[in-house]
Amino acid sequence: MSTDLKYTAFIIDSRDAQGADRIYTLYTEEQGKVRVLGKGVKKNNAKLAGNLELIMLSDIMIAKGKGIGKITGSIPVDLYPSIKKEYESSLLAMDAFKKIDQLIQGEERDEKIFLLLRSYLENMEKIAGNGEQTEKAKLVNWAFFIQLLDQLGYHIGAVSCISCGKKIGPQGNFFNFSGWGISCPDCVRKADVKISVGPGEIKFIRLAGANRLENMAKIKLDQESFKNMGIVMEKIWQWMNQ
Ligand SMILES: [Zn+2]
Repeated sequence: MSTDLKYTAFIIDSRDAQGADRIYTLYTEEQGKVRVLGKGVKKNNAKLAGNLELIMLSDIMIAKGKGIGKITGSIPVDLYPSIKKEYESSLLAMDAFKKIDQLIQGEERDEKIFLLLRSYLENMEKIAGNGEQTEKAKLVNWAFFIQLLDQLGYHIGAVSCISCGKKIGPQGNFFNFSGWGISCPDCVRKADVKISVGPGEIKFIRLAGANRLENMAKIKLDQESFKNMGIVMEKIWQWMNQ
Protein backbone atom coordinates (compact mmCIF):
# COMPACT_ATOMS: atom_id res chain seq x y z
CA MET A 1 0.00 0.00 0.00
CA SER A 2 1.27 3.47 -0.80
CA THR A 3 -0.15 6.97 -0.75
CA ASP A 4 0.33 9.50 -3.56
CA LEU A 5 1.69 12.83 -2.40
CA LYS A 6 2.47 16.02 -4.28
CA TYR A 7 5.10 18.43 -3.06
CA THR A 8 5.99 21.88 -4.36
CA ALA A 9 9.69 21.75 -3.69
CA PHE A 10 13.25 22.80 -4.26
CA ILE A 11 15.76 20.00 -4.64
CA ILE A 12 18.47 21.11 -2.23
CA ASP A 13 20.74 18.07 -2.51
CA SER A 14 21.06 15.00 -4.68
CA ARG A 15 23.45 12.10 -4.32
CA ASP A 16 24.14 8.71 -5.83
CA ALA A 17 22.66 5.68 -4.11
CA GLN A 18 22.69 1.98 -4.98
CA GLY A 19 22.69 1.00 -8.64
CA ALA A 20 21.04 3.63 -10.80
CA ASP A 21 19.16 5.25 -7.90
CA ARG A 22 19.59 8.70 -6.48
CA ILE A 23 18.56 10.13 -3.11
CA TYR A 24 17.13 13.64 -3.30
CA THR A 25 16.70 16.07 -0.43
CA LEU A 26 13.75 18.37 -1.00
CA TYR A 27 12.69 21.51 0.78
CA THR A 28 8.94 21.35 0.35
CA GLU A 29 6.17 23.83 0.93
CA GLU A 30 4.04 21.13 2.51
CA GLN A 31 6.38 19.22 4.80
CA GLY A 32 9.68 21.11 5.13
CA LYS A 33 12.77 19.01 4.49
CA VAL A 34 12.05 15.58 3.00
CA ARG A 35 14.31 12.86 1.58
CA VAL A 36 13.03 10.86 -1.37
CA LEU A 37 14.29 8.18 -3.73
CA GLY A 38 14.69 8.55 -7.48
CA LYS A 39 14.47 4.92 -8.57
CA GLY A 40 16.63 4.12 -11.59
CA VAL A 41 16.96 7.79 -12.56
CA LYS A 42 20.60 7.47 -13.57
CA LYS A 43 19.89 4.84 -16.23
CA ASN A 44 16.45 4.24 -17.55
CA ASN A 45 14.63 7.42 -16.61
CA ALA A 46 16.58 10.27 -18.14
CA LYS A 47 13.46 12.33 -18.70
CA LEU A 48 12.55 12.28 -15.04
CA ALA A 49 16.18 12.93 -14.07
CA GLY A 50 16.17 16.08 -16.25
CA ASN A 51 13.27 17.41 -14.20
CA LEU A 52 15.08 16.71 -10.95
CA GLU A 53 17.97 19.12 -11.22
CA LEU A 54 19.21 21.44 -8.53
CA ILE A 55 18.15 25.12 -8.66
CA MET A 56 14.61 24.65 -9.85
CA LEU A 57 11.18 24.77 -8.25
CA SER A 58 9.04 21.77 -9.18
CA ASP A 59 5.84 19.96 -8.40
CA ILE A 60 7.11 16.54 -7.41
CA MET A 61 4.88 13.47 -7.17
CA ILE A 62 5.76 10.84 -4.58
CA ALA A 63 4.49 7.34 -3.83
CA LYS A 64 4.84 6.92 -0.08
CA GLY A 65 4.60 3.53 1.56
CA LYS A 66 6.74 2.29 4.42
CA GLY A 67 10.14 3.96 4.47
CA ILE A 68 11.41 6.51 2.01
CA GLY A 69 9.00 7.90 -0.62
CA LYS A 70 9.65 7.21 -4.31
CA ILE A 71 9.48 9.91 -6.96
CA THR A 72 6.94 9.10 -9.66
CA GLY A 73 6.99 12.37 -11.59
CA SER A 74 8.14 15.97 -11.64
CA ILE A 75 6.86 19.10 -13.36
CA PRO A 76 9.09 22.20 -13.37
CA VAL A 77 7.50 25.39 -12.03
CA ASP A 78 10.46 27.80 -12.07
CA LEU A 79 13.78 27.14 -13.79
CA TYR A 80 15.92 30.16 -12.81
CA PRO A 81 17.89 30.18 -16.09
CA SER A 82 20.00 33.27 -15.29
CA ILE A 83 21.26 31.80 -12.01
CA LYS A 84 22.32 28.63 -13.82
CA LYS A 85 24.18 30.64 -16.49
CA GLU A 86 26.26 32.54 -13.91
CA TYR A 87 28.74 30.39 -12.02
CA GLU A 88 28.89 32.78 -9.03
CA SER A 89 25.10 32.93 -8.77
CA SER A 90 24.73 29.17 -8.85
CA LEU A 91 27.32 28.88 -6.08
CA LEU A 92 25.29 31.34 -3.98
CA ALA A 93 22.10 29.39 -4.66
CA MET A 94 23.83 26.18 -3.59
CA ASP A 95 25.13 27.94 -0.49
CA ALA A 96 21.55 28.65 0.64
CA PHE A 97 20.57 25.01 -0.02
CA LYS A 98 23.52 23.77 2.02
CA LYS A 99 22.62 26.05 4.94
CA ILE A 100 19.01 24.87 4.95
CA ASP A 101 20.09 21.24 4.63
CA GLN A 102 22.55 21.43 7.52
CA LEU A 103 20.59 23.62 9.92
CA ILE A 104 17.24 21.85 9.57
CA GLN A 105 17.01 18.26 10.76
CA GLY A 106 13.66 16.53 10.50
CA GLU A 107 10.49 17.00 8.50
CA GLU A 108 8.49 19.98 9.68
CA ARG A 109 6.32 22.29 7.65
CA ASP A 110 7.60 25.87 7.78
CA GLU A 111 6.03 28.05 5.16
CA LYS A 112 8.13 31.07 6.12
CA ILE A 113 11.37 29.25 5.34
CA PHE A 114 9.93 27.97 2.06
CA LEU A 115 8.89 31.51 1.07
CA LEU A 116 12.25 32.89 2.18
CA LEU A 117 14.07 30.42 -0.06
CA ARG A 118 11.75 31.17 -2.96
CA SER A 119 12.23 34.91 -2.55
CA TYR A 120 16.00 34.38 -2.32
CA LEU A 121 16.12 32.52 -5.64
CA GLU A 122 13.83 35.06 -7.32
CA ASN A 123 16.12 37.88 -6.21
CA MET A 124 19.23 35.99 -7.30
CA GLU A 125 17.61 35.36 -10.68
CA LYS A 126 16.85 39.07 -11.08
CA ILE A 127 20.38 40.09 -10.10
CA ALA A 128 21.98 37.50 -12.41
CA GLY A 129 19.60 38.42 -15.25
CA ASN A 130 20.56 42.09 -15.02
CA GLY A 131 24.24 41.14 -15.20
CA GLU A 132 24.75 43.03 -11.97
CA GLN A 133 27.89 42.75 -9.89
CA THR A 134 28.20 39.94 -7.38
CA GLU A 135 28.23 42.52 -4.59
CA LYS A 136 24.43 42.75 -4.68
CA ALA A 137 24.13 38.97 -4.73
CA LYS A 138 26.36 38.76 -1.68
CA LEU A 139 24.22 41.27 0.24
CA VAL A 140 21.11 39.23 -0.53
CA ASN A 141 22.92 36.02 0.44
CA TRP A 142 23.91 37.45 3.84
CA ALA A 143 20.42 38.82 4.47
CA PHE A 144 18.98 35.40 3.59
CA PHE A 145 21.26 33.76 6.17
CA ILE A 146 20.36 36.31 8.87
CA GLN A 147 16.64 35.78 8.19
CA LEU A 148 17.04 32.00 8.14
CA LEU A 149 18.78 32.11 11.52
CA ASP A 150 16.02 34.36 12.81
CA GLN A 151 13.42 31.85 11.65
CA LEU A 152 15.29 29.01 13.35
CA GLY A 153 15.40 30.81 16.70
CA TYR A 154 18.82 32.49 16.37
CA HIS A 155 17.71 36.09 16.10
CA ILE A 156 20.62 38.54 16.14
CA GLY A 157 19.63 41.62 18.12
CA ALA A 158 21.65 44.55 16.77
CA VAL A 159 19.98 47.48 18.51
CA SER A 160 21.17 47.15 22.09
CA CYS A 161 24.03 45.44 23.92
CA ILE A 162 23.17 41.86 24.95
CA SER A 163 24.61 42.43 28.43
CA CYS A 164 23.80 45.97 29.62
CA GLY A 165 20.93 46.69 27.24
CA LYS A 166 22.28 50.11 26.29
CA LYS A 167 21.82 51.29 22.73
CA ILE A 168 24.78 50.21 20.57
CA GLY A 169 27.22 53.08 19.99
CA PRO A 170 29.34 53.56 16.86
CA GLN A 171 32.70 52.14 17.98
CA GLY A 172 34.36 49.20 19.70
CA ASN A 173 31.54 46.66 19.43
CA PHE A 174 31.75 42.91 18.90
CA PHE A 175 29.54 40.17 17.62
CA ASN A 176 29.60 37.92 20.66
CA PHE A 177 29.09 34.20 19.98
CA SER A 178 28.95 33.39 23.69
CA GLY A 179 25.86 35.55 24.20
CA TRP A 180 24.62 35.61 20.59
CA GLY A 181 24.39 39.28 19.73
CA ILE A 182 26.26 42.57 19.89
CA SER A 183 28.36 43.38 22.97
CA CYS A 184 29.31 46.98 23.71
CA PRO A 185 32.94 47.87 24.61
CA ASP A 186 32.07 48.03 28.33
CA CYS A 187 30.57 44.54 28.48
CA VAL A 188 32.75 42.41 26.25
CA ARG A 189 34.93 40.00 28.25
CA LYS A 190 38.29 38.53 27.36
CA ALA A 191 36.98 34.97 27.48
CA ASP A 192 34.08 35.62 25.07
CA VAL A 193 34.24 34.14 21.59
CA LYS A 194 33.82 37.26 19.49
CA ILE A 195 34.57 39.19 16.33
CA SER A 196 34.89 42.94 15.91
CA VAL A 197 32.00 44.65 14.06
CA GLY A 198 31.86 48.25 12.84
CA PRO A 199 28.81 50.51 12.45
CA GLY A 200 28.29 49.42 8.81
CA GLU A 201 28.04 45.74 9.69
CA ILE A 202 25.74 46.42 12.68
CA LYS A 203 23.46 48.52 10.49
CA PHE A 204 23.37 45.79 7.86
CA ILE A 205 22.46 43.10 10.41
CA ARG A 206 19.72 45.33 11.83
CA LEU A 207 18.25 46.09 8.40
CA ALA A 208 18.49 42.46 7.26
CA GLY A 209 16.34 41.41 10.20
CA ALA A 210 13.55 43.79 9.24
CA ASN A 211 13.54 44.12 5.45
CA ARG A 212 12.54 42.15 2.39
CA LEU A 213 15.47 40.62 0.48
CA GLU A 214 14.91 42.88 -2.56
CA ASN A 215 15.58 45.93 -0.39
CA MET A 216 18.79 44.42 0.94
CA ALA A 217 20.30 44.41 -2.59
CA LYS A 218 20.18 48.23 -2.50
CA ILE A 219 22.17 48.67 0.72
CA LYS A 220 25.43 50.56 0.33
CA LEU A 221 28.31 49.25 2.43
CA ASP A 222 31.76 50.82 2.34
CA GLN A 223 34.57 48.51 1.26
CA GLU A 224 35.83 47.75 4.74
CA SER A 225 32.35 46.96 6.12
CA PHE A 226 31.62 44.79 3.09
CA LYS A 227 34.81 42.80 3.58
CA ASN A 228 34.30 42.38 7.32
CA MET A 229 30.62 41.47 6.87
CA GLY A 230 31.75 38.54 4.72
CA ILE A 231 34.11 37.41 7.47
CA VAL A 232 31.43 37.81 10.17
CA MET A 233 28.92 35.73 8.18
CA GLU A 234 31.52 33.03 7.53
CA LYS A 235 32.38 32.86 11.26
CA ILE A 236 28.70 32.62 12.18
CA TRP A 237 28.30 29.76 9.71
CA GLN A 238 31.32 27.95 11.17
CA TRP A 239 29.94 28.49 14.67
CA MET A 240 26.56 27.03 13.71
CA ASN A 241 28.28 24.04 12.15
CA GLN A 242 30.54 22.95 14.95
ZN1 LIG B 1 26.97 46.65 27.26
